[in-house]
This record gives sequence, structure tokens and C-alpha cells, in this order.
Amino acid sequence: MNVPFLDLKAQLAPLRSEINAAISEVLDTCAFAGGPFVAKFEEEFAAFCQCPQAIGVGNGTDALWFALLALGVGPGDEVITVPSTFMATAEAISFTGAKPVFVDIDETTYTLDPRHLERAVTPRTKAIIPVHLFGQTADMDPILEFAAARGLYVVEDACQAHGAEYKGRRAGSLGHAGCFSFYPGKNLGAVGEAGAVVTRDASLADRIRVLRDHGQIRKYQHTHVGWNGRMDGIQGAALRVKLRHLARWNTQRRAHARRYNELLADVPGLKLPTEAGYARHVYHIYPVRVARRDETLAALGKLGVNCGIHYPIPVHRQDAYASLKLGPGSFPVAERCSDEFLSLPMFPELTPEQVEFVAKSVREVLASQSVSSSASAAKA
Ligand SMILES: *Cc1c(COP(=O)(O)O)cnc(C)c1O
Repeated sequence: MNVPFLDLKAQLAPLRSEINAAISEVLDTCAFAGGPFVAKFEEEFAAFCQCPQAIGVGNGTDALWFALLALGVGPGDEVITVPSTFMATAEAISFTGAKPVFVDIDETTYTLDPRHLERAVTPRTKAIIPVHLFGQTADMDPILEFAAARGLYVVEDACQAHGAEYKGRRAGSLGHAGCFSFYPGKNLGAVGEAGAVVTRDASLADRIRVLRDHGQIRKYQHTHVGWNGRMDGIQGAALRVKLRHLARWNTQRRAHARRYNELLADVPGLKLPTEAGYARHVYHIYPVRVARRDETLAALGKLGVNCGIHYPIPVHRQDAYASLKLGPGSFPVAERCSDEFLSLPMFPELTPEQVEFVAKSVREVLASQSVSSSASAAKA
């Protein structure tokens, strides 16, 4: 059996004629850049996020960048985030001219550990970006309280958490702004690149709408130096079709995670992901932790189980951020996790047989490792 890490074809196939029709409608009206299909999607996605405002943009990186810019983050400022994330979180901070300041993650949720905020904050701190990594939100109440007490903004990186919940509230609706990516592999994926910011603040939403459209308040009247960060009309139309299935897809992901948890519960040397008491996890990724990760990844690949690593190098250890001079040991939890993380196949269309095959293969590979390590221990 071969189990892909992700199967976009399986998701597209049953929606193919509906998406074709949606794209045809865009072609018929030539509403290619922004326009009515994007506006309708914005309305529907805002409702999904339990937020009054959504602004469609070019991708998730734009969403983070525009949110920070619209909050006035710029040169001389610092923005606190985690090193255990996709590079884009830190890039967006750097592209405002501000400096990313990292804090370590919590060992069980893999999200920002609020206990480290006090040590990271300085008079230059302007905002905090908690990352809802893998589909589970950070512990938002202590983060929001810390920020409110010091007048800091909170921008949620919800790029992996469409539909996740914190104490019954939707990811993205908790801070000043929530940023989403619709990169094709995300829980809600476009048929190309797209992203969105959601917010409860109407004036912040207006500023982002101006920024994403060259700083124009109306045609050829530019009040700000903005950028071209509009959402493409075809993406808006396709996302409207796919949004109707997101809740069901998330439920399917949760069912697969539950099944993995049952089948793998007693495997020695394997750490499973956990769902925090406050959370509804939507399992963008199902990350396990193993000591001999690279070897495990290769052995599973040979059996036909295709895994991923999210992410092999924490952001503070990337060459791009060498200038921050954050050596090994700066963030021990994030560094340990990046050595041990292994993402098992996870997508809504996984079959029960595939889930069972993945679990059986993981069990076999880890059992053979413990035999070979006890054999080498006996020799030594
Ligand atoms: C995907 C992702 C982004 C960036 O989104 P793009 O649409 O690829 O620009 C940012 N942060 C996280 C955590 C992501 O997973």
C-alpha cells in the first residue's frame, strides 16, 4: 500500500464540476482581480471565523505583513513570536522593518509558552504573534491578558488553524487580527495562492483594504504607500465552493487523529500529539515525536508511508536569521522538537485502511529500531 502525505487530487475530484462552474462564472464576468467573488468569499469566511470583517489578500504571508503594517508596526519595533513555525511568520515581521524576538514553545501544545513573555518584552515591543501550529491554538487568555496590560497588539498566525477553537471561540477571532493562508495544502486551500485577515476592528479592516490595493482609498487616489496584495477572483470563487466543506473536512481530520491515537497509544518511544483542554484541534498536521527521526522517516518511506517534517530547522537557526546570533540552545524545546517531529499522513480523504496501515508501519519500524539498538548495546 502507498499512503501519500497529502492527496489534493482526492479532495478536488468530487468538487471538480462545481469548481469548474465557479471558475467559468469568473471568466464570464472577467472579475479577475478582487471583485464580487472575493467580496462574497470575504463575507462567508468572516462568518465562519465568527468575526465581522475579512479581507482577502494574495497569500498568508501578505495577511501577516498587512496586519502588522496596518497596526503601525515598523522600524525600531519588536514583535514577539515563536521559532517553531514556518518562515513566513518571521519574514512578515522583518518586512515591516521590525525585529522578530523569539520565545520558546510549550512542550505539549507546541505553541507559544506565555510564561516566557515577561523575559522577552522590552519598551520596543509592539505586538505578539502566537502561531496556532498544526491546527491547535496557543493558550490565548494569558497571552491576551499580558498584551492588554502592556498595550501590545496580538496578531494570530492562524494559517494552519481554519476552524480551530479556543474555549469555543474560533481561531482568528481572538486577537486584534487573525491571519490565514489558503495555500493549496492548508485545511482550506485555494486552487492557487490566497490568504485573508479577519478582525473585529472595522477601522483596522479599512486600513488593510487600502494597503492591499496600492494605498488607494478610491481609484488613483493614494493616501498611503501600499502594495498589490489583492486576492485573485478565481481563488475567491473556488474558495467559496470549498468553504462549504471545511467543517466536514475538519471533522474527518479529527476522526483520523483519534484513530491514530488509539492505534499508536502503547508504542514505546513514540510521543503523540495532545489536544489541550481549551482546544478544538483541527489537525492540519498530525505530528508525532521520535528519537531517531530521520531514520524513521526513511524506513516509513520504504514501506510506502510518506511523512513530512514541520519543521526541520527552527526559524532562529536559519541562515537568514544568522544576524540575530541565536545559537544552539537558545530555545531548547523548539530545538528538541524540530529534531524529533515527524508528520504522519493527514488529509480528510484518508481511508480507514490507510490509517491502519500507517499505524501498523510506525509500530513495526519503531519495534525494529528497539531490537537493533538493544543488539548494539549488547555488543558494546
Ligand atoms: C502557510 C503558512 C504561512 C504562510 O502562508 P502562505 O500562504 O504560504 O504565504 C504562514 N504561517 C504559517 C504558520 C503557515 O503554515
